Amino acid sequence: MSFCSELKNDLCIEKRSGCCQVAECYGFMLFGRSFSFKNISLITENEKISARYIKYLKKNFAIIPAVKKTGKKVTIYNISVTDPNSCASVMSAFGYNGADLLSINHDVFKRDCCFGSFIRGAFLACGQMSDPYKNYHTEFVIRDFTLALEFYSLLISRGLSPKRSMRGNSTVIYFNQSETIEELLTLMGANKKVLEFIEVQVTKTIRNKENRKSNLEMGNIGKQVDASFAQCRAIDVLIKAGKLEALSDELYSVAMLRKENPGASLSELCRLSGEAITRSGLNHRLKKIMEMAEKLIEEQKNDD
Ligand SMILES: [Zn+2]
Repeated sequence: MSFCSELKNDLCIEKRSGCCQVAECYGFMLFGRSFSFKNISLITENEKISARYIKYLKKNFAIIPAVKKTGKKVTIYNISVTDPNSCASVMSAFGYNGADLLSINHDVFKRDCCFGSFIRGAFLACGQMSDPYKNYHTEFVIRDFTLALEFYSLLISRGLSPKRSMRGNSTVIYFNQSETIEELLTLMGANKKVLEFIEVQVTKTIRNKENRKSNLEMGNIGKQVDASFAQCRAIDVLIKAGKLEALSDELYSVAMLRKENPGASLSELCRLSGEAITRSGLNHRLKKIMEMAEKLIEEQKNDD
């Protein structure tokens, strides 16, 4: 089962008191398929969401909706209320009096406990969340543009930081930062999933740190290999020109040491030299050898 399906199932287990049930219903309805005086309907593939919504309608509005099941592989539940009187009683309970323009009635979630329930209803109606192991992304896909803008402003006014984009005719209000998604999960009362989410965040942070460390190490090894390659090439130039024997004893021994140990780091070369020499001392000698080789190459060029 996907992270999102698990999350939605977990949210459907959460028990809430009357005020929060009404606020959650409001989220279900506003962000469902249709919310008007003619038709209040919600479409979902999730059986638990369907059962919760039907239960809340019955308990808080004394309405038994029509439920139509369609789909072959996946069952789709279409839960609708079309009786004009039932629709009117729900609409007026949420403060709508016949005007067509539906704006979000903030009074429904005036109590602190209720705001989270409203968001939970909205998420269950039109939300999706990616598996945090893969990426951080939570979205609400809203068909009505004005409603989407209002919802966007509402989230901002509550200190969340959503982003906005279009997908076809729908507006997508989304979050792609782990801290905000964690906040959203907490707000919705997804207690089990918050803990799982935090665990993923910690694992990912540790893994990123390890990756950064190993990239750095790989970078250092790369630099070391490049330097050794250049040194060996310089030594070869000197050997070919018969100049190696002419080097001072200390340069000669370092050249031989490098030639025999092309993969060794400076520290390893120091140890192998058997001399009391520092890394910078050794590096200095290698640089001298390279300078001599470069000079030789220049001279050979001029001779040509
Ligand atoms: Zn409440």
